[in-house]
Formats: sequence, C-alpha cells, structure tokens
Amino acid sequence: KNNRLRAVLELIFMLSGGILCYVATGLAQSGYKFVFVLIITIYTMEYGIRIGTILSSVCGILILIGDYFSTIGLSRSSYFQADFMMIATFYLVSYVVGFYVQKDCQLIEHLRESANRDALTGLFNHRYFHQHLQSLVSNPASKPQYLYIADIDFFKVYNDTLGHPKGDIVLKEIANIANEIFAGGVVSRYGGEEFAFVISADDAVQARNIAEQMRLRVLEHYFEGEETMPGHHLTLSIGMAERKAVGDTVADWVARADNALYKAKSFRKNRVECYSSIYERFDNLEHITDDERIIS
Ligand code: GH3
Ligand code: MG
Ligand code: MG
Repeated sequence: KNNRLRAVLELIFMLSGGILCYVATGLAQSGYKFVFVLIITIYTMEYGIRIGTILSSVCGILILIGDYFSTIGLSRSSYFQADFMMIATFYLVSYVVGFYVQKDCQLIEHLRESANRDALTGLFNHRYFHQHLQSLVSNPASKPQYLYIADIDFFKVYNDTLGHPKGDIVLKEIANIANEIFAGGVVSRYGGEEFAFVISADDAVQARNIAEQMRLRVLEHYFEGEETMPGHHLTLSIGMAERKAVGDTVADWVARADNALYKAKSFRKNRVECYSSIYERFDNLEHITDDERIIS
C-alpha cells in the first residue's frame, strides 16, 4: 500500500486484463463483463469506497464505449439496458464492500486503541509503553531522553481509609496532571499506582525540573480526604534515568529509573531522584588506574 508506483502498475495490469477479456470475447456481446466486478471488489477492499466508485465509473465508461462501437448497425437498446444494470451493480458492489471495509477499519482502529490504553485513566498501558521504549532504544536520539517512574506514596493507606472508588478518582486526577506536565512525551499507567513517562529534554537539569513540577502539582492538588494521609497530603515519588547514548536496553533503562525510585522512597518519599551510580562514574574515568579506583 505504501508503494504507489507498484499499486498503479498493478491496477493498470488488472484493468488491461479485464479490457482484453472484454474485447476478446465480443465487446457488447461478451459474457465476461463481470470480470470488472472482481477488479472493483479487490480495489474497494484495499482502498475504500472512493477508489471503488472511481473504478466503477471508469469500467462503466469503458463498457459503454465498447457497446457503442460494437453495435453500430444493430439494435442497441437491449445491450445498453443490460449494461446499465451491470454498471449499477459496479456501484452497488463498491458501495456495499466499501461500507463494510470502512466499518472493519474503524473496528480495528478501536481495538488497537483499546489494546494500548488503560481503561481507568485513558493513559497508555504498560504493554504500549514498553513497545515505545523499545522503539526509542532501537533508534539514535537527537536529544537526551529521560524515563521517569512515579509511584503514589502510602496509597494503600489512602485506599484503606477512603475506599478504592476514591482511590480510582485519585489515579484519574494524577493521570490528568501527568498529561499536562509531560504533554510532549508519552505518559502511561505502568502498574497499579505507578506511572511512567518518557520525554526528550535539553539536559538533566531541565528533565529534573519537569519531574519536580509534576511532584509539586500533585503535592498542591487537593485530593478528597488527603488530610488523613501521613503528612496530611497525598504525594508522589519519582525516579528518573537518562537513556545511555549507546548500547542501552529497555530492561537496563527501566532498572535504572526503578533504582532511582527506590532511592526516592527510601529518603522519606515525596521527592525526585535521578539515577546515578558511583561505580559507573568510576568506570567512565579512563585516566585513573585500578589502584586509584580501589582507593576511591
Ligand atoms: P509506598 O509509599 O511504599 O509506595 O506505599 P504504597 O502503600 O503506595 O504501596 P503498596 O505497594 O503497599 O500499595 C499499593 C496500593 O495501590 C495497593 C492497592 O490497593 C493500590 N492500587 C493498585 N491499583 C489500584 C487501582 O486500580 N485502584 C485503586 N483504588 N487502588 C489501587
Ligand atoms: Mg507501587
Ligand atoms: Mg505506592
């Protein structure tokens, strides 16, 4: 479908076949005009009602021209009568087939959308998010890319105190905030009360500021009954990690963001932590000797 030239050549080939069949079997007297119905059906299924209707018109005109020249001196009305019925069938076939193909495409689109979305929040789901990360790590990036994993603090307490339906409302409200803050990236519900986002940013400072904005927006937002929570607010902890320029994998990238989240949770929660590893930093220092590494 992407190769236009091939599609056009294919259509010319099919139409030529149809015309040849029509001419060779007696034009107006041909019993094989239905061959055009096959061509119209195939192209309507592939390209929809519009192309089907255009093709019906083209085939109809060809048949009428053929009829006109092959019935000179004969009584024409019976040929034309039968062929007008045939042409009406062309239009009917292209409309009916096109209609069902259109319905099918809409259904496929709806199913594709449902398969990629979380039903509660409308965010992308875990499956789609992983696919997206995979496509990111498979391609070189023009700007640094950052992955965030965010987890609601003490959410079990909130659910236990206010009930799961209220907890569900919180998840939706946080999803709305995330959609605003990470508007340029991909926002997903990663797990039960965990969200994951991925964006491109100029540098780590800008990327961290965005995460801070997210944390602050959740802190400042009033969630019903949050005064019963530890600290009297419902809060979010966020771990973030930059994609390594070369050789990164989805599993490693997620593990680093998760590691940073674990750190944020360990430091009293309600904070943003950026992944950093002292070991990796030493690994990258090429000018120091192994002895110096060990002493450090
Ligand atoms: P922490 O600060 O360490 O993250 O503690 P926590 O209580 O948030 O973490 P924990 O993993 O113990 O609890 C997560 C809770 O998230 C448990 C579950 O009731 C809640 N949860 C998960 N999915 C949903 C959901 O779809 N709706 C609601 N209302 N709650 C959910
Ligand atoms: Mg959790
Ligand atoms: Mg939690």
